[in-house]
Amino acid sequence: MTQQAEECPVCNSTSIELFLDRQNVPVHQNLLMRSAEDAGKIRRGRLAMHVCNACGFVFNAAFDGSLMSYNQDYENTQVHSPAFNTYVDGLVETTLNESGVRGGTIVEVGCGKGDFIKRLLNHDQQARGYGFDPSYLGPEVVCDGRLTFEKRFYDASCANLKADIVVCRHVIEHIPQPQEIVRAVGSAVSTNPEAHVYFETPCVDWILQNRVTWDFFYEHCSVFTTASLTTLFERCGFTVQSVQHVFGGQYLWLHARPAKSAPRVIMAPGVTPQNARAFTKIEAQRNRTWTDFIRSQSERGRMVLWGAGAKAVTFANLVDPDCQWIEAIVDVNPSKQGKYLAGSRHPIVAPESLPEIAPAVVMVLNPNYHDEIAQRLASVGVTAEIVDMMHDEVMA
Ligand SMILES: [Zn+2]
Repeated sequence: MTQQAEECPVCNSTSIELFLDRQNVPVHQNLLMRSAEDAGKIRRGRLAMHVCNACGFVFNAAFDGSLMSYNQDYENTQVHSPAFNTYVDGLVETTLNESGVRGGTIVEVGCGKGDFIKRLLNHDQQARGYGFDPSYLGPEVVCDGRLTFEKRFYDASCANLKADIVVCRHVIEHIPQPQEIVRAVGSAVSTNPEAHVYFETPCVDWILQNRVTWDFFYEHCSVFTTASLTTLFERCGFTVQSVQHVFGGQYLWLHARPAKSAPRVIMAPGVTPQNARAFTKIEAQRNRTWTDFIRSQSERGRMVLWGAGAKAVTFANLVDPDCQWIEAIVDVNPSKQGKYLAGSRHPIVAPESLPEIAPAVVMVLNPNYHDEIAQRLASVGVTAEIVDMMHDEVMA
């Protein structure tokens, strides 16, 4: 049995409140499952999402890190999607323009396969880069010797690099004690008081306000608001320059710099605790509505869901846990095709398989991909109805 956290990992307040409790959810959403049997046997854990009334931070107090395995079968790249590529290229420009740094040293923390830091170095041909990730697999030095990968954590031992820019994207939401990673970055940049630090992570206010029940899942044990992310960085010795909403409001993009003197820590929970309480009331109703929806739609023909990411894994496990109603999950990432969805065991197929399946309905969970999906369906000659699960009359 996991020890349940009794205080907020960001501000240490004990005024925390459970607002979402799901037992036996798959602990991984992005691990490749090579057979339906393996997918069915995925490890499971408890999602006990709490909100902190003092700072607005949202976290899974029952998170057990020993259940996680971020190994080479962890696959969450979205670079096969044109819409996502456009978004990431915009972030690259924002990073370089906002910092004003050219020809400097750039570090990416938790760089995965190194896609983002490679893009940064392609935009700034004079810059040098270091990608840190304990699970990195691939050549150690690339980009004509300008980019080096290190299979370890970025911490005080890396202070000699004197990084000008440190980027950390979609890492902090996976860490149950987020102060640790922010303090580690702080000690690594202690040798350069002019360093610029950027973090990207999902926005929990967007999830709560839009009532996106499939956006709470086990891998994301720490979910921030603009305010709680600011509180965290201030507590860890940074001055926060800005926190912007990006990717249609779904993500936060923080820009911070080492504080010249001890920063004043602002605690502003805002409406997040109220929104979390409201979420408790609507969650079961939302899941019932979707379950009714897929049952009624099944009379029209076959249904598929687009995108085999964390949203789909969570949605499928909530509304079709025994793989009875949804025919398949479509994904443009070749390494996901031919695999199975964790927990619910739905097969993952390529868009090119759709003419054979001939679906009547294509369900879309992320509105940011609607146009791209419509184009892809047209290109494979499929005329299914696209149902946007967030905005259509589904929710009426
Ligand atoms: Zn707190």
